[in-house]
Amino acid sequence: MNNLIHAKCPVCSNSNSSKFKHIGRPELSPKAKTVFKETYQVLKCQNCRFYFVSPQNLTDVEMSKLYDETYFTEMTKWWAKKRDRDRKNRLDKLQECLNQKRIRFLDIGCGEGYVLIEAADRGWEVHGIDVFDNRMQLVKRQEVKFFKGEIKNAHFPDNHFDCIYMDSVLEHLFDPVDYLRELFRITKVGGLIYCVVPNEDSLFNDIKRLLYALSGKGNISERIQPFISPYHVSGFTKKSLSEAALQSGFEVVTMRTFGGQYEILQFRAFTKPFLTNLFLLPIHLMAILMRKQLYLEVILRKNQL
Ligand SMILES: [Zn+2]
Repeated sequence: MNNLIHAKCPVCSNSNSSKFKHIGRPELSPKAKTVFKETYQVLKCQNCRFYFVSPQNLTDVEMSKLYDETYFTEMTKWWAKKRDRDRKNRLDKLQECLNQKRIRFLDIGCGEGYVLIEAADRGWEVHGIDVFDNRMQLVKRQEVKFFKGEIKNAHFPDNHFDCIYMDSVLEHLFDPVDYLRELFRITKVGGLIYCVVPNEDSLFNDIKRLLYALSGKGNISERIQPFISPYHVSGFTKKSLSEAALQSGFEVVTMRTFGGQYEILQFRAFTKPFLTNLFLLPIHLMAILMRKQLYLEVILRKNQL
């Protein structure tokens, strides 16, 4: 494959063509077919186990044409409560790691603003950033500072934040290392980054891959899907996430996999999604034992300038 030769891993900069594995072609939504003419493929860097789209010539303008598609997920009461509990636990953990009362906090991709409220209620100095302003009225209070746009355009000062939070951000970026370097610049020495991304090495993904192969769709990428929702262009594993942290100057404080096993609890008994999740439950429980759950959670620290 000719264009394999020109690929360069966005995380470890490997450009040795024999070190890339062809995973498949990404699926295109009907709208994407009108925007993208070129044939894209999903590659895995054998050096750092990072998954990415090649060639990386997709512009922000092209990608933003996809993002205007409307989609939403309905959240059950049980699920909303669980998310609320998760947020509290996460911020508790960060507070404990930082071991200080006054925390200057930034939530990247803050969405409706639930994390901002949780942080503001703790008396932290709270900043939020997002490309859209979807915040609830509750978060539009004076002490919560909000910037609408990209991080580089926010021009935050050097060594500014004690803690930066980003849930489901890095997998949407073509150059995660470049992005993390900007976060390194604006984080104080001793400051933390909290990050959650999907785990490409999850047991669930391994099984999906097998099912794709058995159904004759082995040439299609079932992992990262840049052209259909949820528009993931980068796929992380423990190894590639550690490598991205290292390349941008951070040290890994903790890393773990989580998620998947509770999904069944949000559905009413014996409905279709309930039964589907009941079928998947043994896989998710096995994934706990194998430490191959659906998501990766990592806390990074900036230890020097
Ligand atoms: Zn690599």
